[in-house]
Amino acid sequence: MRAMRVHAPRKPLALDEVPVPQPGPGQVLVKVLACGVCRTDLHVADGDLTECTYPVIPGHEIVGRVEKGGKRFAAGQRVGIPWLGWTCGACEFCKSGRENLCPKARFTGYHLDGGFAEYAVADERFCFLLPVCYGDAEAAPLLCAGLIGYRSYAMAGEAKRLGLYGFGAAAHILAQVARAQGREVYAFTRPGDSRAQAFAKRLGAIWAGGSDETPPARLDAAILFAPVGALVPQALKAVKQGGCVVCGGIHMSDIPSFPYALLWGERRVQSVANLTRADGEAFLALAAKTAIRTETKTYALERANEALGDLREGRLEGAAVLVP
Ligand SMILES: [Zn+2]
Ligand SMILES: [Zn+2]
Repeated sequence: MRAMRVHAPRKPLALDEVPVPQPGPGQVLVKVLACGVCRTDLHVADGDLTECTYPVIPGHEIVGRVEKGGKRFAAGQRVGIPWLGWTCGACEFCKSGRENLCPKARFTGYHLDGGFAEYAVADERFCFLLPVCYGDAEAAPLLCAGLIGYRSYAMAGEAKRLGLYGFGAAAHILAQVARAQGREVYAFTRPGDSRAQAFAKRLGAIWAGGSDETPPARLDAAILFAPVGALVPQALKAVKQGGCVVCGGIHMSDIPSFPYALLWGERRVQSVANLTRADGEAFLALAAKTAIRTETKTYALERANEALGDLREGRLEGAAVLVP
């Protein structure tokens, strides 16, 4: 099969011819129909995440058709394969509903080969059935941008006024969910990015501006999807007392020091790590009954480097999706 692989950090992905993987016990082999491109794929390609062995096939928003293997799905069924690829099932975290924190967890497109390829294998216990109302490319961003975005959203609590910093794939999905639930969305983009601000407003943001701007109302909570640590004190300034700043990314640049007064008033800074299968089931059930329009730009598999470049440079509205 054809696969786009990372051979070394900060090198373009290479189009390689590799054997079709064969499913082991409890695994399914899927033919990849679409695979979303996530910021974490950039972190893998750039070597910001250091636990993988090269070469590795990135991609953890896989929509695939089951070919064979396992017992849970019939051949021909469409499944989604997310970031969480395997957990030990025995540690204190796995046994207390926090498998996202399992120290032995293995992640798709990082420890395990992912979906920038024509085929992929996955542990069937970690796959999801996908709502039929979404096409293959439209469903792909739900699997990480949607799902880990939703975990971040849940961490933000009942916030009526919600700030979203970084208006990319995750925020564009979450803004629609928040709006459907009657919340006010304040979108923060790179300063001067009027195109992203217009995009946010089209998706229901009540206000959109630069991340250096003060919103017209104080926020109950903010979620950071941009991997920029300097936004943490910025967001704390925008959040009222008792509010929460949720860091939704897996990797972030250092957070600069800031006066305690910004945290005072029982404000909290919270990170979000990975996802649990329960998060996936909850979010996909919500996605099935909420009309979320995922905006996607599709690329042929061999154009993965172009997709990653567009994501890096902020040239996308919504999500990039590879279609083999
Ligand atoms: Zn565990
Ligand atoms: Zn992701």
